[in-house]
Amino acid sequence: MVMQSGGGAEYDGNLLSGPLADVFAVEVTTAVARCGGCGLSSVVAELAVYGPDPGLVARCPGCADVLLRLVRTPDSVWLDLSGTSTLRVPIPESERPDLAQT
Ligand SMILES: [Zn+2]
Repeated sequence: MVMQSGGGAEYDGNLLSGPLADVFAVEVTTAVARCGGCGLSSVVAELAVYGPDPGLVARCPGCADVLLRLVRTPDSVWLDLSGTSTLRVPIPESERPDLAQT
């Protein structure tokens, strides 16, 4: 759905469905998180994780800032990535477009 605001067009969150499925359908521990504090890029599997109660907290191995928090409730999963400036998720080779056929 397109929403108009001022001079530009905005889309609602349905536009994110496909791209976010790519992010969350893969093995996220191979993703690379960039720390919003010190800028260090780290593979998620190598983060320092504390928990499990009341939730999981992953800290930057460089500066110990909190990169992500994950809390599971009976009906939801809460994911806080506010300490992560970017999360780079590699696309499996089998799902990459064949760039040779152009
Ligand atoms: Zn850091």
